[in-house]
Amino acid sequence: MMGRMIAMKTIRIHITALLIALTCLGISFVSWRAHNHYRIKAPSVSRRPIAVIDAGHGAFTDWGLLDYGATHYGIREADVTIQVTNRLCESLESNGWIAVTTRDGEFTPLNLIERSHLASHIGADVFVSIHTNSFRSPHPNGLSVHYWGDESEQLAQMMQAILCKRLGMKDRGIVKQPLTALVWASTSAVLVELGFISNPREAQRLANETFQRKAANAIAEALTLWIRSKCNESQPCF
Ligand SMILES: [Zn+2]
Repeated sequence: MMGRMIAMKTIRIHITALLIALTCLGISFVSWRAHNHYRIKAPSVSRRPIAVIDAGHGAFTDWGLLDYGATHYGIREADVTIQVTNRLCESLESNGWIAVTTRDGEFTPLNLIERSHLASHIGADVFVSIHTNSFRSPHPNGLSVHYWGDESEQLAQMMQAILCKRLGMKDRGIVKQPLTALVWASTSAVLVELGFISNPREAQRLANETFQRKAANAIAEALTLWIRSKCNESQPCF
C-alpha cells in the first residue's frame, strides 16, 4: 500500500514537471513568434526622427542659485528659451518628429554635459540648444548658429540661412566654437543665439509670442529639411 502511494506521488510529480515544461515551451514559442514577427516588420517601417531640444539655462549654479542667463529690460533669457522650446516642440511634433526637452519648466536638474549626453542616451538624431546673445553695449544685434563637430556644419548653415530669411534679422553667420553643450554631444548638435537680449529692440522681439512662434517654426523647418537631405537606405524618409 505504502509502495503504491509513493508510486502515485512520483507520477503526480512527473505530470506536474511535464505540465511546467510544456508551459515553458509554449511561452518560448509565443515569444519566438513575436520576436520574429517584429524582426520581419520593423525594417519596413520608417522611424520618426528624434530631436533633443535644450532650453538654455535654468539649472542651479555651483553657488546654489538658479541660472536665468542674461537679464535685460526685465526680460530673462531662461524664460525666452523655455517659451521658444515649447513652441518648437509643438512645431516639430506636427512635422512628424519626436521632440524631447532637457527642461520643461523653470528648473532642470541636468548640467550642460548631461543635457548633451541625453541625446546619445535616447538615440536622438540631433541636439539643439536655444539661447539668446548678450553684450555689455546695447548696440550689437543679429542671429548666429554655433556648432563644433564638422558633421554639424551643414545643419548650422541650413538653420542660419532659414532663420535669417524667416525672421529678417542681421546675419552674423555660423560660428565654430567649443561650447560645453556642443563639445560633449555625440550626435549632430547646434546652439542657436536667437538675437541679442542686450539690444532693446531685439529684447522686445524675443519676448514677443509671434516672434517666438516664427522662430520655432523656422528651426523646425530647418531640422526637417536637414533630416530629409540625409535620407538613405538605413535612414528612410519619414
Ligand atoms: Zn545663454
